[in-house]
Amino acid sequence: RSNDYLQNANKKLKELDRLKNDFVSMVSHELKTPLTAMKTSSEFLRESECSREIKEEMLDLIIRNIDRQARMVDDLLDISRIESGKMKFIPEDVNIKEIIEIALHNVQKYANDKSIKIMVNCPEDVPVIRTDKDKLIRVFVNLLTNAIKFTPEEGEVSIIVEDHDNHLQTSIKDNGIGISREKRDKIFDKFYQVDSTATRKAGGTGLGLAIIKGIIDGQGGNIYLESETGKGSTFTFRLPKELKEDDFTEIE
Ligand code: ADP
Repeated sequence: RSNDYLQNANKKLKELDRLKNDFVSMVSHELKTPLTAMKTSSEFLRESECSREIKEEMLDLIIRNIDRQARMVDDLLDISRIESGKMKFIPEDVNIKEIIEIALHNVQKYANDKSIKIMVNCPEDVPVIRTDKDKLIRVFVNLLTNAIKFTPEEGEVSIIVEDHDNHLQTSIKDNGIGISREKRDKIFDKFYQVDSTATRKAGGTGLGLAIIKGIIDGQGGNIYLESETGKGSTFTFRLPKELKEDDFTEIE
């Protein structure tokens, strides 16, 4: 029996090693793409006489790519902070309605471009909770961006907030492509991407959900996924209403 155990452990380690290798090569590729774009634009600016308009366009492109690369590096740093239990939380009193408004403002254009309707269902008198505001905004923006990304045009995304005894529960529901059963278990894992070709096209690193889970778990909450292929996905997270300071993994 101990032989079986060793074989199993060995298989798991090999799988983890493979995921890590795939991840390193994917991240290198993702980091290299913006560099290539920046180099081409910079060379063009140096070598050609071009109008002010074209110059500005090139500079905008360079800035967009710098931002993209900075976001990826931030994600990598966050993952390593989560791994080592060193993610910092700055708790304050937060009204979730305000967070939803800010997040909607962030993603509205993307939703409009795909003619996707976003519905919000939140009790008027929802209680204030103590949480890290910027991190919670990030959770909403990431989940909403994914919901929009993986939902066909004219689809629907909803945000449902429920006030329970000890916690606030929020669901982000879409009627998009859904996530298959075998992938559901792994989706919050750090090196896991459901479909690297589709993701590659959309330019993601697959770190988003692992970071979201780190943010929610790190504040004494939990997150789970329900989904059916072809029908849609619902990500639900719960945050305690009464948060004791030591619920935070580490407080700045
Ligand atoms: P990425 O930044 O690469 O999108 P995420 O961790 O946010 O990384 O998501 C990982 C993968 O999970 C995505 O690439 C996608 O395949 C799948 N996924 C996430 N959200 C949804 C959703 N709402 N519907 C369908 N698939 C999703």
